[in-house]
Amino acid sequence: MSARNLEDRDFEREPLTGGCQCGAVRFRISAPLTTPHVCHCRMCQKASGSAFLALAEVGLENFAWTRGEPSWFRSSEAVERGFCAACGTSLHFRYVGSAWIDVSLASLDEPEAVVPEQEFGCESRLAWIGLLGELPCSTTEATTPSDALRTYASRQHPDHD
Ligand SMILES: [Zn+2]
Ligand SMILES: [Zn+2]
Repeated sequence: MSARNLEDRDFEREPLTGGCQCGAVRFRISAPLTTPHVCHCRMCQKASGSAFLALAEVGLENFAWTRGEPSWFRSSEAVERGFCAACGTSLHFRYVGSAWIDVSLASLDEPEAVVPEQEFGCESRLAWIGLLGELPCSTTEATTPSDALRTYASRQHPDHD
């Protein structure tokens, strides 16, 4: 199963890039990602510190770190999870020894480039996820004083190399 919207992309000219929040770890992807999904399993919840982890996979021959490298936590005998040791961003899931690596979709510089096509780990799916889309929704600007926004310097790496 391939990711939506990326079949026509010329990866040679326009690779997909991404990285962690602080920019210490950056990577480049040079082929369409496959099996785009969200995983609700309890391990992915803990690894991301969030309700679920959105991932898609790519062969190692089409993946390269371009700055730094992640640290790894072996969450079970079979699986290890890559994250930035400097800022903590959850970046990767991979089976130990596999020729494939999963990339967290939100760590891509184009976070909407790959659309999940299935859900895994549904035994742990949080019931309140069904409320999303119905809750009151506001922009960051609307909930932060405008004079404060002007003075805050972002330490987040921009969404490009
Ligand atoms: Zn980082
Ligand atoms: Zn999972």
